[in-house]
Amino acid sequence: MQDKKQQLISIYDGFETAAAEYKREAACHKGCAFCCSDAGSIDMTTLEGLVIRNQIDTLPRPRRIAVKKSLLADMRRREQKKASACPFLMKNRSCLIYAVRPFACRRIYSVTVCSASQHPMLSQKVMALGQQTIRMLQQLDDNGYSGHLSYILHMLDTPAFLKAYLAGEYHPETVMAFGKTHGIVINRVMTSRQPQ
Ligand code: SF4
Repeated sequence: MQDKKQQLISIYDGFETAAAEYKREAACHKGCAFCCSDAGSIDMTTLEGLVIRNQIDTLPRPRRIAVKKSLLADMRRREQKKASACPFLMKNRSCLIYAVRPFACRRIYSVTVCSASQHPMLSQKVMALGQQTIRMLQQLDDNGYSGHLSYILHMLDTPAFLKAYLAGEYHPETVMAFGKTHGIVINRVMTSRQPQ
């Protein structure tokens, strides 16, 4: 698993290097959290979830409890099809897990300032690069799943799931019911369907 975590960082770094010339034009700045507060599905793989989970475990207990509550509230709001800001967005509009944020957050930037009527505008090349990178992340996490961050973290908080996942086992039938109702996809199925 440690090796996979290193490969995850290499994939992130590869994307940043390839996208750097486009991101130079970005209007994004610290404190602008439009993407985080008006957040659609913030998808990630289980491997990314594991890294975030480990980061949450390093937080002081009161903070950890608050994060778990926010994650649960986000899950409940989304289950009711209600809008929900990212549970990691802090009051000062910065990201609690910035160093380990998922690829969904790394791939987005905008050359114009975002607003309710102006969604992020980015290069088609970076969009395509993002899709390729998602495929690489799903290939790397080949006994895992992808979906919105609070749903994936909920799965990892389920002891039987975590044990099997860490052992490298692949039992998609065990997550079928939750997966169907929460838009979870199976990485192995996604990468076998997409063109090489
Ligand atoms: S994880 Fe961080 S960067 Fe990503 S949407 Fe949440 S607050 Fe924003």
